[in-house]
Amino acid sequence: MKIAFFSSEVFPFAKTGGLADVCGSLPKNLAKEGCQVKIFMPFYKNINPENFYDGFATTRVTENLEVVFIRNDSYFFRDYLYTTPSGDYPDNLERFSFFCKKVFEVLKKIEFSADIFHTNDWQTSLVNIYLKILYKNDKFFKGAKSILTIHNLAYQGIFSKEKFSCLGIDEEYFSPSYLEFYGKINLLKGGIIFADMVNTVSPTYSRQIQTKEFGCGLESVLRQRKDRLWGVLNGIDVEIWNPCQDSFIYQRYSSSSIEEKYINKVKLREELGLRKDENIFLLGMVTRLAEQKGIDILIKALDKILEKYQLVVLGTGDEVYHQQLEKKAKNRGEVFSLNLKFDETLAHKIYAASDVFLLPSRFEPCGLSQMISYRYGTIPIVHHTGGLADTVKDYSRGGGGFVFKRYHPKALLEAIMRAEALFKSDRKEWISLMKKVMEYDFSWQKTAKDYIKMYEKCLSLD
Ligand code: ADP
Repeated sequence: MKIAFFSSEVFPFAKTGGLADVCGSLPKNLAKEGCQVKIFMPFYKNINPENFYDGFATTRVTENLEVVFIRNDSYFFRDYLYTTPSGDYPDNLERFSFFCKKVFEVLKKIEFSADIFHTNDWQTSLVNIYLKILYKNDKFFKGAKSILTIHNLAYQGIFSKEKFSCLGIDEEYFSPSYLEFYGKINLLKGGIIFADMVNTVSPTYSRQIQTKEFGCGLESVLRQRKDRLWGVLNGIDVEIWNPCQDSFIYQRYSSSSIEEKYINKVKLREELGLRKDENIFLLGMVTRLAEQKGIDILIKALDKILEKYQLVVLGTGDEVYHQQLEKKAKNRGEVFSLNLKFDETLAHKIYAASDVFLLPSRFEPCGLSQMISYRYGTIPIVHHTGGLADTVKDYSRGGGGFVFKRYHPKALLEAIMRAEALFKSDRKEWISLMKKVMEYDFSWQKTAKDYIKMYEKCLSLD
């Protein structure tokens, strides 16, 4: 099967969050399963491809997998991918509509007649739209079907209607049955309508997004496509996230040498200037600082948390959260290490060093950090929502984490206290819990097979 895979970020070439992880791992695993895969992404600054052509460049990853970088330096050679600290780039619509048009040209040039066009999020959802509108009668694309994966419904690619002519499609498509959304252009909505199938990244989230509470205004559009809406749980790249081989962490370890995990805790404390105290519970967080991630309840619970525990936060995002967290961190360097940046190395160290990892997300399409934490024997503390509900069962019910159901600072605190009580009172049990979660399998192998089933289903549709 030939798959053309489209994403605005792909690890290790460009990353702002989980989208890049997924779009780095899934194609690799599809290729391992025998699919021929070409990933298309923008040619951003700091990417060094192997081969250069007119308007694009390529890097071969494996025999079955190649990355194609679409070039337009004025659009893509910038410091950020979509958003600067002062807001979104004003020409995001122009940038990504250029990308989505150009990929069809390049597909023809490289003579790759894909069976499946797999797009991801609003940035590439115009590909689903163009395939059905602009290339409907093009023989080269005959029989091709398209799938849109929604990684996060909260980001829809909404633009003012004045820009509609940039899209290069007939004005009739600016109507509520197609791309119009309360008087504006909504690219994700268009993708949902024109894709042959739509999926999201966990079964629970695929049900939640059909409700008013989580549907971000698109719940009825999604409900209309219910029969073609799937939920496929993400995996993690177990080669990148592997405490036995991780070159970023201080001390490698496995479940049979779990006591060596503590060397990471000692060293991270030293590096970040946290107080040395063997018995203090270390909480970690690596996250976008966005409303979705539960930063508001974290901040409300922070004074209480810092009375008893140590916390390391690595993250960037909304300026208001930067400021509120900085205020809380002032004069508390011994118990609170705040790192407002994107730092892959420090992220690995935090996963390895922490006793528990906090994911108080208000909503969570899938979440990767809880799976990464498991891999490092770090116990996740999560709000019961979306993919977190599909992957973390409470310790009291035989699961590998601590779960709170009410979205409230008190509930977060209680879950932390329950975890610490076990850590303090029964070290043996805590260690066996760590060992147990390290054996959980969230690798992509199974998930890639689920995607292939979805592709097959999609190809069988009229
Ligand atoms: P989302 O995509 O919503 O941000 P996910 O849990 O799906 O959340 O994925 C987050 C990914 O991004 C994880 O690999 C996490 O470790 C990484 N990450 C988030 N923030 C940072 C940061 N500041 N520095 C390094 N890695 C980060």
